[in-house]
Amino acid sequence: MTQAIATPRTQTAPAFEKLQCKECGAEYETKAQHVCSFCFGPLEVKYNYDILSQRVSRETIAAGPNSIWRYRPFLPVATDNYIDVGTGMTPLVAAHRLGKRLGLKKLYIKNDAVNMPTLSFKDRVVSVALSRARELGFDTVSCASTGNLANSTAAIAAHAGLDCCVFIPADLEAGKILGTLIYNPTLMAVKGNYDQVNRLCSEVANTHGWGFVNINLRPYYSEGSKTLGFEVAEQLGWQLPDRVVAPLASGSLFGKIYKGFNEFVQTGLVEAKDVRFSGAQAEGCSPIAQAYQEGRDFITPVKPNTIAKSIAIGNPADGVYALDIARKTGGQIESVNDTEIVEGMKLLAETEGIFTETAGGTTIAVLKKLAEAGKIDPEETTVAYITGNGLKTQEAVREAIGEPLTIDANLSAFERALERSRTLDRLEWQQVLV
Ligand SMILES: *Cc1c(COP(=O)(O)O)cnc(C)c1O
Repeated sequence: MTQAIATPRTQTAPAFEKLQCKECGAEYETKAQHVCSFCFGPLEVKYNYDILSQRVSRETIAAGPNSIWRYRPFLPVATDNYIDVGTGMTPLVAAHRLGKRLGLKKLYIKNDAVNMPTLSFKDRVVSVALSRARELGFDTVSCASTGNLANSTAAIAAHAGLDCCVFIPADLEAGKILGTLIYNPTLMAVKGNYDQVNRLCSEVANTHGWGFVNINLRPYYSEGSKTLGFEVAEQLGWQLPDRVVAPLASGSLFGKIYKGFNEFVQTGLVEAKDVRFSGAQAEGCSPIAQAYQEGRDFITPVKPNTIAKSIAIGNPADGVYALDIARKTGGQIESVNDTEIVEGMKLLAETEGIFTETAGGTTIAVLKKLAEAGKIDPEETTVAYITGNGLKTQEAVREAIGEPLTIDANLSAFERALERSRTLDRLEWQQVLV
């Protein structure tokens, strides 16, 4: 008896071919593995750039979806059955008012505070990781998170119908916890810091057959951050900027913006250019900045103590690579304290109308510090990466923004209050008018 067999739609072979150890170069199949069996170095996805060059052009990319999936040939996903929840293609905003304040003539903000679906850059890495997880046959996905990753993993797993169990440090901001629970994953709040959560997850990954987006799926996950480089290049009119300023937690995102720029050069999509890479850390968790300042090429782990919880990783997996990129590109890695972080959040909001979380406050504060120290040329095209949304970390600014002017419902009360608002600092309004 003959029967028509449904053949899967033929796919052109993907351009990603293997995983390769960043340290010793050993190669592996593209399965769920993140550490080299020989030297314990991290594995990274390797592409065939000849195939990629033939397959991509500015036109094919521009004709693609209005999401990170317009760059699919550069991402480690084999089929067209990827998860597209509208992630990516966030605004690149010409920041004239902030630029004027800092004396920078060509300043841009890459605004992932409005990324989809959960308002942080983590939606990029999770969209890629879960698409690959599905291809590799996982039905339960998981992660060790500083907050935003938990939001993203829970939301995108819900959309894709995957079971989800996420791990966070128990002391996270309320918005990060609520913004995870609403998607109804299993949420484990671990009494400990992120590095302890991560260690626990490595053990769970060995005993349960789950796909941990930032552990055994990390090579795929981290590739999602390249789209932050691709989009900026495309949005600048197929050009690279002169400098980027980006926050560092594990250091992954920083290195992948670099990889993204290089891949666009390698495939002929943009002209080569020397881009300076400047990194931002919170003083209360700045192991990479400390190594940079002390001229070390190794990272000494620290115990985090900062309001910038989303970037509070004391033992950063990709720290040495980030250090190397900052040094060889003529950039630097700087840190700022919690007061400066809050001021950075307010400065961006007041000048550009963008409400970012503590990680973004860190980036803006470092940008300000570098600009004021004359370390950025005013003519440089500078892109500051804003990676998360301020509504998730309201605790950080609550004391620093004052109160509304509460008045009786009549015109004279309004006029009196308006008069006072012109002469008083807003933080004093409440006391005066009550
Ligand atoms: C996770 C995170 C980062 C840094 O990510 P790494 O790739 O680990 O360096 C930056 N900003 C925000 C808002 C994050 O959630």
